Amino acid sequence: MLPVLQAETIILDLVQPLSGQEDVEVLNSPDVRGRILAAPVSSNLDFPHWDNSAMDGYAVRFADVSSCNAEHPAVLEVVEEIPAGYQPQRTIGRGQAARILTGSMMPDGADTVVMQEETKREGTRLFIFSSPESPQAFVRHQGAFYQAGNPLLMPGIALNAPEIAVLAAAQCTQVPVYRRLRVGILSTGSELVRLEQPLQPGHIVDSNQYALAALVRQAGAIPQMLGIVPDDREAIQEAIGSILPEVDIVLSSGGVSVGDYDYVEQILSTMGAEIQIKSVAIKPGKPLTVATFKQPHFVLYFGLPGNPVSALVSFWRFVRPAIKKMSGLARGYLPEFVQAVTQNELRAGGKRETYLWGTLHLSENECEFELATGSHSSGNLINLAGTNALAVVPVGERAIGPGSVVRVLRM
Ligand code: AMP
Ligand code: MG
Repeated sequence: MLPVLQAETIILDLVQPLSGQEDVEVLNSPDVRGRILAAPVSSNLDFPHWDNSAMDGYAVRFADVSSCNAEHPAVLEVVEEIPAGYQPQRTIGRGQAARILTGSMMPDGADTVVMQEETKREGTRLFIFSSPESPQAFVRHQGAFYQAGNPLLMPGIALNAPEIAVLAAAQCTQVPVYRRLRVGILSTGSELVRLEQPLQPGHIVDSNQYALAALVRQAGAIPQMLGIVPDDREAIQEAIGSILPEVDIVLSSGGVSVGDYDYVEQILSTMGAEIQIKSVAIKPGKPLTVATFKQPHFVLYFGLPGNPVSALVSFWRFVRPAIKKMSGLARGYLPEFVQAVTQNELRAGGKRETYLWGTLHLSENECEFELATGSHSSGNLINLAGTNALAVVPVGERAIGPGSVVRVLRM
């Protein structure tokens, strides 16, 4: 039984992130949400593109307004109106000003913007009652945020709304991203039926297949669902063999324990896979087989436990980080832990790192963890619904009292 952290290290060290040209596809920039950038993006535009105003007000020459005040206002002549989208036509001379709106281009000759609130306008006459602090006040300078030609976005980042905005602003229409990983999913167990099939005594519905597919999609990969395979050596071997050429990762559930029908590890060995992990000191989720295939290409195999909660906890703790890392994400693929104050007592056996499900709330100035009511048996799927986090009881601890700070894994 490997400690959890050691298992995590082994798994993440096995993962080869996508990197080759064959793993890159080019998408239209509005379609890249959730994808990982595969090459640096730069722009030939400066940001801002030109000097512009940060305020609604008047563009002036600082020298004309540097010593005005309420008793002795500066009096200037407004020579042009510069609304959004308009290119100024006049150069601002001594004693002149231009009406300017937020984001509008600064006219030549002007070096400062005076806020509208400090002024009074009478026709083309403008009174300014307060001197700006310094020249360049309220001017946003060309290239202040980004200078053309520099790297704008670096490979390995996830592309979401902020990055899509930057790509659009930079007029990048085509974006190189890594392909989505393909993840094969199969459920082993002679007792399993599909959700629409009638249940016979002794049967249960294969819930893992659907939950794992949803998690795989959420992680940005494409689930390839192989369905249910009975506890039969040949059938399992054939199913695994058929999916290997098409996928990067395989997730099977069930058949990794020490029961009479738990064949998965043996089958993987027979098929030439290298067994990397056999079990982990985690609860739920102790029987976890991790293996690697080199043929027909590198495939990472997770034999997850069959118990629905165990399968999902194993996914959150070990599989999701591996998918994210393999997808090309350079940072942020590790599980997200936060510190939270537990509202309830958390109990554990002490021998394995124990994950208890519940909800994480952000109260006034701290995170709180509320344990799900009902049984925390790995066979009880029902009270997992509505939860969003797993509180961790470390090895060696049997009880953590309410009010204590604990580590919580966000689902
Ligand atoms: P196993 O790991 O195969 O011994 O399965 C452990 C428990 O999980 C058994 O009670 C199984 O019936 C149940 N189980 C196994 N696979 C699934 C599945 N795909 N969906 C729901 N429950 C399952
Ligand atoms: Mg089974």
